[in-house]
Amino acid sequence: MQSWGNLPYPPPSRSRRLFDRAAPLPAADASMLAWGNGRSYGDVCVNSGGELIETRGLDRYLAFDADSGVLRAEAGVLLDDIVRHLLPRGWFLPVTPGTRFVTLGGALANDVHGKNHHVAGTFGNHVRRFELLRSDGSRRECSPTDNAELYAATIGGLGLTGLVTWIELQLRRVPGPAIAVENHRFHGIEEFFALNAAAEQTHEHVVAWIDCLAATPRGILMAGDHVDAAVAPAPTFAPTVPFTPPLSLINAASLAAFNAAYFNRPLPQRRTTHCLPFFYPLDNLLHWNRVYGRRGFYQYQCAVPRGVERAAMAALLATIRASGQGSFLAVLKTFGDVAPKGMLSFPLPGANLALDFPNRGEPTLKLFERLDAIVSDAGGRLYPAKDARMPGTLFRQGYPRLQEFSQYVDPKFSSNFWRRVME
Ligand SMILES: Cc1cc2nc3c(=O)[nH]c(=O)nc-3n(C[C@H](O)[C@H](O)[C@H](O)COP(=O)(O)OP(=O)(O)OC[C@H]3O[C@@H](n4cnc5c(N)ncnc54)[C@H](O)[C@@H]3O)c2cc1C
Repeated sequence: MQSWGNLPYPPPSRSRRLFDRAAPLPAADASMLAWGNGRSYGDVCVNSGGELIETRGLDRYLAFDADSGVLRAEAGVLLDDIVRHLLPRGWFLPVTPGTRFVTLGGALANDVHGKNHHVAGTFGNHVRRFELLRSDGSRRECSPTDNAELYAATIGGLGLTGLVTWIELQLRRVPGPAIAVENHRFHGIEEFFALNAAAEQTHEHVVAWIDCLAATPRGILMAGDHVDAAVAPAPTFAPTVPFTPPLSLINAASLAAFNAAYFNRPLPQRRTTHCLPFFYPLDNLLHWNRVYGRRGFYQYQCAVPRGVERAAMAALLATIRASGQGSFLAVLKTFGDVAPKGMLSFPLPGANLALDFPNRGEPTLKLFERLDAIVSDAGGRLYPAKDARMPGTLFRQGYPRLQEFSQYVDPKFSSNFWRRVME
């Protein structure tokens, strides 16, 4: 069981799959941690030497109200299941990350965000209630009014407050599977922020791809809205990267060529398509994480507050460019003002940058230290769901409610991430 970055971690002492949400937690001498679908990049879902409780066996729907769109489902249900079953009935996820192969429990524990953060906030903003199973055997139903502190600690709580057995989620009504997308090329950070501000006024989903190696940062801003239109079905077949090559296929030369070709490709200014390729472009190539080779890869995802975001983004991109590292997968997006419900939720009003980096060892880690300094000076934070190496000082500085959160950590639950940043 490896997390998405394919970085090497010592294995858990044991892993067990849970099928019955009414069953007690396995009695464990060592620490325990829930494992959703392993789509976190680093060690937030890793518990070396401890127990992992696999939740994919908790895969039942418990209730669905087709008039209100309120769904109650077990925590191991994948977002993919919900989309396949309920999009044809006019309901979609209120917030979705860039892959649909994550569980409800994983989406809650990292309080994931999507392209509509400026209007919808995070996943937790749409979670009405859930059940939390603690290691003392107690079951707590949590909502904004019942066990409100545990509710706020568990949303974005990195799986540390116990095991979530089921979740009640408010879905979003959509007119159908179609989405109308506008594309805009931009040159320079200022142009990105101007286009983005205008797009967020009128569009529900806004995100930009950015060429991290260009001398002047450039990219493509995409803005989409659900519309009532006939579209071809989404492709049902996705090819797979069949094996992990010994070395990364991503290097500076291949990246510069790829980015230039991608940026300059013929681009329709407006098109209407099935929404799945828009929301989940990476799900069209299964196991794409293998292209980074046996040493795996890191994602660096940071958020910096409004007011300093232009200067911070320019500094981050200049530092990355100077290093010659990075990858094709680079996303720039702003976060809006909808306050997250979780004590440790990642988004803050401002801007957020996410980039993948092949693991080249020391040079990559040194680059991250330079990026950390920019984020820290800007008063920003890194995203635990994507992290595998942030220093504890940066974590503690970036999450001011950490001490409050710590009271709600289940004494039997732990993760490599938690031990690393809290030691
Ligand atoms: C291609 C790709 C694109 C992505 N895009 C985005 C994005 O746009 N936005 C974003 O926010 N994230 C994004 N992510 C990250 C991903 O959404 C999160 O890491 C998510 O939490 C993974 O869910 P999972 O089910 O795989 O959980 P895992 O990765 O297995 O676990 C994540 C955490 O959830 C906890 N957990 C899992 N199940 C339970 C449970 N039942 N009870 C308690 N705790 C539990 C685990 O202990 C762990 O701490 C992306 C990831 C990939 C691979």
